[in-house]
Amino acid sequence: MTTTTTGAKSRELQRRAEAAIPGGVNSPVRAFQSVGGEPAFIVKGKGARIWDADGKSYIDYVSSWGPLILGHAAPEVVEAVMAAARNGTSFGASTPAEVELAEAVLAAYPAMEKVRFVSSGTEATMSAIRLARAYTGRKRIIKFEGCYHGHADSLLVKAGSGVATLGIPGSAGVPEELAQLTIALPYNNLKAVEQAFKQFKGEIACVIVEPVAGNMGCVPPAPDFLDGLRYLTSREEALLIFDEVMTGFRLALGGAQELYGTRPDLTTLGKIIGGGLPVGAYGGPAEIMDLVAPLGPVYQAGTLSGNPLAMAAGVATINFLCEHREVYSRMERLTSTLVAMVLDAARDAGVAMVANRVGSMFTFFFSSDAVSDWSSAAKCDVRQFSRFHAAMLHAGIYLPPSQFEAAFMSAAHTAEDVSETVAAATEAMRELGA
Ligand SMILES: *Cc1c(COP(=O)(O)O)cnc(C)c1O
Repeated sequence: MTTTTTGAKSRELQRRAEAAIPGGVNSPVRAFQSVGGEPAFIVKGKGARIWDADGKSYIDYVSSWGPLILGHAAPEVVEAVMAAARNGTSFGASTPAEVELAEAVLAAYPAMEKVRFVSSGTEATMSAIRLARAYTGRKRIIKFEGCYHGHADSLLVKAGSGVATLGIPGSAGVPEELAQLTIALPYNNLKAVEQAFKQFKGEIACVIVEPVAGNMGCVPPAPDFLDGLRYLTSREEALLIFDEVMTGFRLALGGAQELYGTRPDLTTLGKIIGGGLPVGAYGGPAEIMDLVAPLGPVYQAGTLSGNPLAMAAGVATINFLCEHREVYSRMERLTSTLVAMVLDAARDAGVAMVANRVGSMFTFFFSSDAVSDWSSAAKCDVRQFSRFHAAMLHAGIYLPPSQFEAAFMSAAHTAEDVSETVAAATEAMRELGA
């Protein structure tokens, strides 16, 4: 069996990091805890490739966990950030780039009339929940098991991503009184939603959902799921929040709401709209958004919100996507080829594996059964995943270090990258099947 071995420089950096930073990481998913082995320290990225501190290069399918749809160090983005930096990095006053990015976002998301920028996806969802509670005057919220909406207190209940990877149900430090207001239901299960609305009649402020889940691995919505949520929330006068932090500008310019044709009340964005710099956003109809300070009583603020460098990176990324819409069909073709060929390799090697893919988001699940919610995802053979991950890493293919995370194709990946990845996966499957 291949074990993850990093070079001497990464190991030394990891030793120093662990002495200075809890677990050596500033976000838990970066630790290779669930797959074993040690994380490589990355010193450079260009296009679809990254290089570690020891000079080893990898084809990257993590894409900074979603933001880098144009690949690493895309010239348009780097130029825009450098030009902005020369004029000063932050003013704590409004700048033209904020207006530009806001208008670009609103143009792609007809469900939003107004948008507010924050510095992370966590802030976006936390603020959207606060706004939904204020607008409806209700306290309870519905989320889905395995969906991750950032690390705000109310949302760390049966969350996906790192919480799922580490196998913990919630988080210490979240008051039970607060956690009790969050109702966690199975993804793709409208009956459970209907039942919760009946049980807590008139108490539910909102339903928040990843319209395509990415944080328990990629799990698409069942055909009637999103429309069913739209129907039930409207009927019960609760707000529907699409957390498109991952899917926004990823699945289409207009995100999952464009792809599936379901219109939420509030939308949260992040990742791609910051082009690799820290940005989040939440938006919706003016009637709701105007409750936010300074117009209304819902307080939300940020010293570095709408930061000029982050706005410049976001504008450059979105402008590129608007001017090169063909990248979406190209990424889809490459991803579909990659997934089909790796599935073939698994089948030929007798390895039980299924795959989920929507556009350029994908996950290989080590299971013989389809994965459609958290309980089916949780049944996967994570030991087999770890072996696959280690073999791929060894071969220079950088996949998310968890069974419960989506991988991403970028506009910078080529057919050659895909061939190299398939060759590595075919070899890895032989090892796994042996
Ligand atoms: C990444 C993510 C978040 C959190 O965003 P951060 O910028 O990491 O705080 C929220 N929701 C979804 C769906 C995400 O994928």
